[in-house]
Amino acid sequence: MKKLEHIGIAVKDLDAANVLFAKLFGRPHYKIEEVEKEGVRTSFFDLGNVKIELVAATRPDSAIAKFIEKRGEGLHHLAFESEAIETEMQELKAKEFTLLSEKPFAGADNKNVAFIHPKTTNHVLVELCQERN
Ligand code: ZN
Repeated sequence: MKKLEHIGIAVKDLDAANVLFAKLFGRPHYKIEEVEKEGVRTSFFDLGNVKIELVAATRPDSAIAKFIEKRGEGLHHLAFESEAIETEMQELKAKEFTLLSEKPFAGADNKNVAFIHPKTTNHVLVELCQERN
């Protein structure tokens, strides 16, 4: 696991949150991307050393919709860059972390991603991400 790549924030209304965070950061988001399969629409802000990903649900059965229903909007996940995501997933399993999927899958921002179950990480949802080439 390498450096912090981005911080994910769950929001109800992506357009309103884009305006709010642009005001906070003093710069606009640089992309919006929908990940159909995950039922999310995301936007990204580049703060130089780290990115901020806003995540909103596009349908009620999406994991983000359920998260917001249970815990409200706010901090959702920390994403760390990986150079060999599949190997790292095996290593994490061997260290008794619970992964949310068997294999990495296609996430936003041209990344393959995998998540560690928050029950094994003090309730912090951790994402591993690796640039897709
Ligand atoms: Zn993310």
